[in-house]
Amino acid sequence: MTSTAQAVETFDSLDPATDAVVGTHPVHSADDVNAAVSRAREAAGWWDSLGFAGRAERLRRWKGVVARRMDELCAVVSAETGKPAGDAQLEVVLAVEHIEWAARNARKVLGRQRRSPGLLMSNQAATVEYQPLGVVGVIGPWNYPVFTPLGSISYALAAGNAVVFKPSEYTPGVGRWLVDAFAEAVPEYPVFDLITGFGATGAALTRADVDKIAFTGSAETGKKIMATAAERLTPVIIEAGGKDPLLVDADADLDAAADAAVWGAFSNAGQTCVGVERVYAHTDIHDAFVDKVVERAKKVEPGSDYGPMTMPAQLDVVRSHITDALARGGRALLGGTDAVGERYVRPTVLVDVPDHSEAVCRETFGPTVTITRVADMDEAVDKANNSTYGLGSTVFSKRRGTELARRLRTGQTAINAPLSFAGIASLPFGGIGDSGFGRIHGPEGLREFARPKSIARQRFPTPVALTTFARTRKTEDAIRKLVSRLHGRR
Ligand code: NAD
Repeated sequence: MTSTAQAVETFDSLDPATDAVVGTHPVHSADDVNAAVSRAREAAGWWDSLGFAGRAERLRRWKGVVARRMDELCAVVSAETGKPAGDAQLEVVLAVEHIEWAARNARKVLGRQRRSPGLLMSNQAATVEYQPLGVVGVIGPWNYPVFTPLGSISYALAAGNAVVFKPSEYTPGVGRWLVDAFAEAVPEYPVFDLITGFGATGAALTRADVDKIAFTGSAETGKKIMATAAERLTPVIIEAGGKDPLLVDADADLDAAADAAVWGAFSNAGQTCVGVERVYAHTDIHDAFVDKVVERAKKVEPGSDYGPMTMPAQLDVVRSHITDALARGGRALLGGTDAVGERYVRPTVLVDVPDHSEAVCRETFGPTVTITRVADMDEAVDKANNSTYGLGSTVFSKRRGTELARRLRTGQTAINAPLSFAGIASLPFGGIGDSGFGRIHGPEGLREFARPKSIARQRFPTPVALTTFARTRKTEDAIRKLVSRLHGRR
């Protein structure tokens, strides 16, 4: 941390492959955060007044800037996270799809809708519309610094809110780029603004006069955020970590399943909230499946197929999970404790790891995977569900994919393809248990950032007035008879 001539505290973001300084950013204080939220509140009024069409047009302008200058954004993502250019591009492409979906669907999902008033209130016209909350604070992680926060930001903006964004301290440059690109497309007001810093800056945003906090990060930080938000009764969405299982049935396409397990476990160096961390394979195909996974995993090269661990402290977590697994009788068919280097971790495939070990119970967030033999798919479902987490899951099965998917206690499940739900903008995304609550993406994601406003308008006076002291005995009798005829039949 350094100080500039104006005595503004700053911090550097580093390239995790080399420790080279990528950029220097302010550590914003609580006063700075409050000032940003006040500016955002002013901007929110203007943004709301544009209506769905005005906002959609401007969101598309922003989308255009991101799509045209994608290479520039990808370079910042790669520099700050260490991920290969192709992976950076994948997350930017998916994020662009989300901006478009939110812009295109906001009116349909949130606009005024008529509701049936029911027989007793048939003299009323009933409508509901979803109004913006005002200012939304978004706190993001570093692992997918574009795709993950934009899953909240695009939907909050399309719903008519202003957003103050606090990116991870590991990826402030990506946050800066996104906000600058938005300002280029929407120069009038700071509808989407940035604050940077560490946990204390995030805590200040949580404590500020915001109408909702959308948090993505670890479950531990999520709990702190909820406690802080409780001081003002500020609602929160918590998108936390996972320990995602992949189930392989006896009739599965084993090559496809092995490919998905390898990519799901090792891409982005395993630093994916919905990455595959546990595999449950039917005993009939277990050995053949394990061979295919090991064969493929041997070809995955750290440094080209995926980058270094973005957060150096994670190396100790990965090492301790592997050590614990081996100490409890697990075997490393590939990798092992030696796979954990100073920056990079080589792919590690573990078998015979007991259910209660760290590598099976806790989020490892590194390029490791456990494969467990199960007698049948009921056992696979039981073991998969025996977790405090419940984010994503994957099933490979020819005949029973949907049935097994429905029984898995996770927010989303992909069948016969890895993580496919994350790329479908119309599908809600979120967790259960320690993976958090609330939903981003899709119609549910738009509604997270809006409050329903119900309006009942009397069209003509009712012949049976119920809500008046002038109500008569005759009216009460008539209503009793009507309700008993309508609802009291045996
Ligand atoms: P983290 O919890 O350490 O930090 C996340 C953000 O919270 C950062 O911006 C950080 O500065 C901020 N923060 C820290 N302390 C705070 C506090 N007291 N008050 C307010 N803000 C605070 O998580 P991380 O290491 O950046 O991200 C990795 C985690 O995120 C993993 O567990 C991963 O599974 C999870 N994740 C979840 C999803 C999802 O959609 N569910 C997506 C990506 C990542």
